[in-house]
Amino acid sequence: MKNSRTKIIIGAIISAALIISIFVVANYKNNQVGVNSDNGENSTVQNSNNKPADEGSKTPELPKEPEVKPDKNGYIPNQTLPTEPTYIKEILIANKRYPLPSTFAPEEDKTARAALDTMLAAAKQQGFDLVAFSGYRSFEYQTTLYNNYVKRDGVDAADRYSARPGYSEHQTGLAFDIGEKGKEDLWLTEEFGETAAGQWLFTHADEYGFILRFPQNKEHITGYMYESWHYRYVGTEIAKEIKKQDITLEEYLGVN
Ligand SMILES: [Zn+2]
Repeated sequence: MKNSRTKIIIGAIISAALIISIFVVANYKNNQVGVNSDNGENSTVQNSNNKPADEGSKTPELPKEPEVKPDKNGYIPNQTLPTEPTYIKEILIANKRYPLPSTFAPEEDKTARAALDTMLAAAKQQGFDLVAFSGYRSFEYQTTLYNNYVKRDGVDAADRYSARPGYSEHQTGLAFDIGEKGKEDLWLTEEFGETAAGQWLFTHADEYGFILRFPQNKEHITGYMYESWHYRYVGTEIAKEIKKQDITLEEYLGVN
């Protein structure tokens, strides 16, 4: 009689311990997903899939400095694309050092599009008929585009003006290439930056939350030559700060 009561008590203790540990583990995993899902719409889906169990026990940390030095074109040799996009100071970054997952497909950002439309309307008021001729690009489309540029100009030249698949800011849905209607011959040229329309854009973009992403003489920081046409949405507060300090997004985020 005494013996079986002891067995029942021991059994109850073991069961309770099991239930508590299952609860703790489940709760911890949920928290992990919660932390990462702040980083973007897609990450929850990715976190719940195919993650080794021990991944959950790692504390999320800021991206480390790459251990391998970039090659002459700014890329880490044989780098594999990550499974999560990188956010620093809540800003999504995509450059030669911080690529995006091939599966990252957020489509065009609605806030960025609304800000763009407002900016283009304001430009029109001033007599400048600006148009965004390129915006969101999927990983697949960037692959086609980059490969065509490589065929035309070779890898070294293409790497100065076009991103390899996974490395393009256009895949974030936050970047637009802008030009003037009726002056298509100046699209994707430095000269656009010297036109009155290009100057207006450069002067006022920050008021609408955009930055000129690849300014002159910053190729050693951004990894790209001057692109008078490529604007990135970061929100007005950050755009104004970056403009005021005359710095790049990399410098603002401290990853230059
Ligand atoms: Zn662009």
